[in-house]
Order: sequence, then C-alpha cells, then structure tokens
Amino acid sequence: MSDLRESLINGVFEMMKLAAFNVPDDVKNALKRAYEIEDNPVAKANLGAIVRNLEVASTERIPICQDTGTPTFFVELGEDFPLKAGLREIIEQATVKATQEIPLRPNAVNPWTYENSGNNVGRFVPIIHWEVVPGDELKITYLAKGGGSENTSKLYMLSPVLGLKGIKKAVIDAVVEAGPKPCPPIIVGVGVGGGADMAMKLAKKATLRRLDDKNPDPKLAELEEELLHKINSLGLGPMGLGGKTYALAVKIEWAHKHPASLPVGISTLCWAARKSIAVFKPDGSMKVLMPP
Ligand code: SF4
Repeated sequence: MSDLRESLINGVFEMMKLAAFNVPDDVKNALKRAYEIEDNPVAKANLGAIVRNLEVASTERIPICQDTGTPTFFVELGEDFPLKAGLREIIEQATVKATQEIPLRPNAVNPWTYENSGNNVGRFVPIIHWEVVPGDELKITYLAKGGGSENTSKLYMLSPVLGLKGIKKAVIDAVVEAGPKPCPPIIVGVGVGGGADMAMKLAKKATLRRLDDKNPDPKLAELEEELLHKINSLGLGPMGLGGKTYALAVKIEWAHKHPASLPVGISTLCWAARKSIAVFKPDGSMKVLMPP
C-alpha cells in the first residue's frame, strides 16, 4: 500500500508540474487562431506575447505565470480503488513537493491574520471536490486557478420567471463587469441550476472541458456558440484593450433546481489555463489525459 501511496504522490506532483509549464493543446491552438485572425495591432501584439510566453514556459520549463494559482482538484474515486483513506494527505504532500520543487508561489493565506502557510496547504486548501464513482480507477483533474480570474467569478440567484433570457443577460453582465481583470482571452464556464454552491462548482467544472468538446445537448451547444459570439462581438478583446477575441469558449453545465430558484454561476478562466487530468490504475500506474 505504501508503494501505491508513493506512486500517487509522485503522480499528482507530475500533474502539477505538467500544468505549471504547459496549457493543453486545444487552448494553445485557440490562442494561435485568435492571433491569426486579429487585425487590431494592440490585440495582435498581446496575443503574440501570450503565444510566445507559452512556448518559452514549455521549452525552458518555467511557470507560465507568476501567479501559479490556488491548487484545485476534482477527484473521481472509483468505489473499488484500493486506496481511499489518506487521499487528502497524498494530495497535500504532492502540493508541498510541487511548491518547493517546481517551484510554485505560495498562495495559501489565512484570511484573518494574512499569514502565508508557505507551501500552498492550509485550511480546505488545496481545494478538493470529491465524487465517488463506479469502477476501480482514480481520476484526478487538477486546475491551477489564478486569483485574477477567480476574482471575477459571479453568482446570480435569478427569479425563475427570467428564464433563458435572464441566464443570457447574467453571462453578458458578468463578462462586461469582468473587463480586463481575468486576463482575457478567457474560457467562460456557466453553471445553471442546483443551489448556489452547485451552480458555482459546475461553472468551474465547465472551464475544464476541452474547447473543441461539443456539448452533447444540441440546444446547449447552440447556446454556447451564441454566447461566445455575443461576448466577442462586444469588442473587449485580449486583455480588455479591444479586439476580436475576449473569450475562447463558453461552456455550460447544469443541474436540476428548486422551482423557486434559478442559480447561475459564472467562472472565468484566464488564458493561462493550467489544467491536467490523469487516471490512476489500482497498481499505481498513471495515464495522463491532459495536457495535451
Ligand atoms: S489571471 Fe491568470 S494570467 Fe492573469 S495574473 Fe492571474 S494567473 Fe496570471
């Protein structure tokens, strides 16, 4: 069991390292496309610098951004995976190792004393969302979420009478208010339904989808395209300085809801979309699904 434990610590550490130096190929390609179609000189210069930044980070193996983010994990634990107890501790140990060795900026600060833990581990940090699923595998999705893009998250508790029109307005309002703050081009995650907490969780989860992954519900796929078009038509552009591309994608997730509520969560993920996904087998072997 201690071998499996060691494999998991090293595996999660590798996932954090991969994400620190590389964004997934779908994000990279979308940024390159945005550069190619841009004719605003300021926007083009910004996109050129972003693409170059990604190349340098990847080849020189240095973090993509000075804000190396809050370590956030979505864990899908198979019911028959042989190790269940101590998974939080495993993730914490990997985080301490990653903070020291990559290195990552220590971002876990006590909100009352402003004391920094120094190793990205603190009360409820790393943030871990748990789900128990059938099977004997452990799937971990890691997101290094920058403070700038987290700060423009929004929750709207709409009146259900506002319906689809209200949802669309909430997304556009959130983007307009965010402006340059989340370091656009961004990925816009939208979580509809559940309660307040579920809508926010789904919104963040939506930003983890591949950009070329089409929503399986054709109506939602259409809505994602419509919102993307509307957002980019505002002309806010990269870094909010004007141009064609403010958002690379809009992704929607949803849950059933209370009849009296219509929660809409919005999560914005900056161009430094540092995410990695890996599946661990019961013997500790690991298959990386993202990046690329
Ligand atoms: S929002 Fe993203 S790109 Fe901007 S400073 Fe934070 S991590 Fe870096």
